[in-house]
Amino acid sequence: MRPEILFPLFAPVTSLKGVGPRVAPLLQRLAGSVIRDVVFLKPHSLVRRIPTQISAAIDGQVITLEVIIDSHQPGRSRAQPLRMKVSDATGFITLVFFGRFGDQIEQRHPVGARRIISGKIEDEKYGRQMVHPDYMIAPDKRDQIPELEAVYPATEGLPARRVRTFALEALARAPELPEWQDAAWLARERFPTWREALERLHHIETEGDLSPLSPHYRRLAYDELLAQQLAMAQRKAERRKDPSARIMASAIAARIQADLPFTFTGAQSRALAEVRSDLSAGERMSRLLQGDVGSGKTVVAMCAMADVAASGGQSALMAPTEILARQHFETISGPLNDHGVAVILLTGRDRGAARAEKLQALASGAAKVAVGTHALFQDDVAFQQLRLAVVDEQHRFGVSERQRLQTKGNAVHLLAMSATPIPRTLELTMYGDLDVSRIDEKPPGRTPVATRAAPLTRIAEVESRLRDAVAGGAQAFWICPLVSESELIDLKAAETRAEDLKQSIGPSVGLIHGKMAPAAKDAVMSEFADGKLSVLVATTVVEVGVNVPNATIMVIEQAERFGLAQLHQLRGRVGRGRQESACVLLYDPPLSQTAQKRLDILRRTDDGFLIAETDLELRGGGDALGLKQSGFPDYIFADVLGPHRDLIAAAGDDARLIVNRDPELKSERGKALRVLQELFDWKAGLGLRDAG
Ligand code: ADP
Ligand code: MG
Repeated sequence: MRPEILFPLFAPVTSLKGVGPRVAPLLQRLAGSVIRDVVFLKPHSLVRRIPTQISAAIDGQVITLEVIIDSHQPGRSRAQPLRMKVSDATGFITLVFFGRFGDQIEQRHPVGARRIISGKIEDEKYGRQMVHPDYMIAPDKRDQIPELEAVYPATEGLPARRVRTFALEALARAPELPEWQDAAWLARERFPTWREALERLHHIETEGDLSPLSPHYRRLAYDELLAQQLAMAQRKAERRKDPSARIMASAIAARIQADLPFTFTGAQSRALAEVRSDLSAGERMSRLLQGDVGSGKTVVAMCAMADVAASGGQSALMAPTEILARQHFETISGPLNDHGVAVILLTGRDRGAARAEKLQALASGAAKVAVGTHALFQDDVAFQQLRLAVVDEQHRFGVSERQRLQTKGNAVHLLAMSATPIPRTLELTMYGDLDVSRIDEKPPGRTPVATRAAPLTRIAEVESRLRDAVAGGAQAFWICPLVSESELIDLKAAETRAEDLKQSIGPSVGLIHGKMAPAAKDAVMSEFADGKLSVLVATTVVEVGVNVPNATIMVIEQAERFGLAQLHQLRGRVGRGRQESACVLLYDPPLSQTAQKRLDILRRTDDGFLIAETDLELRGGGDALGLKQSGFPDYIFADVLGPHRDLIAAAGDDARLIVNRDPELKSERGKALRVLQELFDWKAGLGLRDAG
């Protein structure tokens, strides 16, 4: 139930003055559907008072000029505007006034008068103009022009100035809310109250007010982070409440491990120990295994599944695609079967009698491990005793999908796996409700992928080398980026590239893209995995984790457009066999200095965590890491990649403390915190972020 005090903020935007049937959809698209969304619009700055010169004006910019009025040219009919030519020492522009008040304007601003004008410059066919200046006043009254002005986001048909009016009206409706921040923290950070913070956001007084480092802005960012961290801490505590079966390290797992043709890396052993400590604690596990593709996550999970089987329980390993599910099955079914743990593979492809037989094996408990896709949580799939759910590439599943799998047993332990390297500082923002184990060490004997960057102008050379390599039996990925606004245009680009390559290399070039049906994608992937295709042209959909050991070449077009984490993951798809592998990063020259440095990191190291960490330092803002695709939360105020990074840990600690002391949020502060959570909608928003 939403607290009553928030009702005004959750009134529809249509309750704002001037928001009728035409404006409402525009404002909804820009902000959202309720008053709160309009209050949460962030203005950016405009320096108004300091004049520039006409020669320095840029089309589309809002500027202030000090000019002399040269001439008036009234419209010849009512429909035509009054035009006024004005100039300074560097040039002239035309002011344009529509409407019937022509005489008044001429009288108020006679020829020869000096005026300060401020408004938006536009380059038109007939020269530069300013339509209806926002300000036009005598130089001695220049103080009437605000030094700084808040400029709001705008959209076609809804100019920034209207949005500003709506934002200010919405702000006027925002009540002061009970304080949810800890008093000592408030004092230490010199945070204003929530209401005051919003007030400063919209009524900018100095340029400093615009800084995300200013106290009011940090307060809003912290509020948002706290709301999110609290929701995550609650989920985590909630999951812990259910007692779970205690599962002990087993002799079967030890034998399986001993029979593997390799020994675990230190990182794998550590991760397995952490998983085991959770499983044996009697509380429900919520753990994430984070590690590069090929770092050995799946075999760690396999040992945990063996422990579960030895305890008499069942495990389910869920992958986002059929081909990944099949590869997992191939990795783990041998070792598990060899030691008497029956494994089945269940995908959308299983039908009829074969499927019925597998379902029977799960229901009876004859099968101890099920590997599969979405097929695993269909309604008619029942387990005898599901105790552990392993979810690979967990961000690719919706929360309801993961939950559906977990409801197929009681207090099912969760082990999520992800190959997206997240810098330590950001871990809480994505995985605040999970415990994280990192596998930050690669199995020995891997040959690093020789990586080089080359300008697109050398594409012919790259193609001819590729032809030679393919003639020698090599396989290659060729990645085309999603760059334009339109997926169709991107698709065209990928199709064209595939055609090109067919011309130069031959018919064994395949194409895979996001618009294809999953079954069709799987079919092409399988052809590639089976060696029937030698080159696979792909938009970014090449399934993370897919193992094609014979693929040794990775070409990435317009590499500068990708997040480093993504580039790293793409590259991780080669170099998985014994042969030498190569990665070519084709870029569109010229490269900015930062872009150059970013591509350089990839050449220097293949440690995903180091790459993510360095990239964060280098860019310090924006979505440099390409994290949005990995389910990274979309904050309104908090810029956690940039200036608010230091607030993450504080909010995380704060949230944990709150949940420990006042799990039901019953204290005075607890009640205020509920208001905060409702305000930011984190309970609903959590859907994307929660791991079950
Ligand atoms: P991930 O799930 O992290 O992508 P996997 O567990 O599938 O990695 O392991 C990738 C490959 O490396 C598999 O073929 C696996 O048998 C092998 N592997 C795993 N751990 C080791 C190790 N410590 N030493 C050598 N090879 C390993
Ligand atoms: Mg994997």
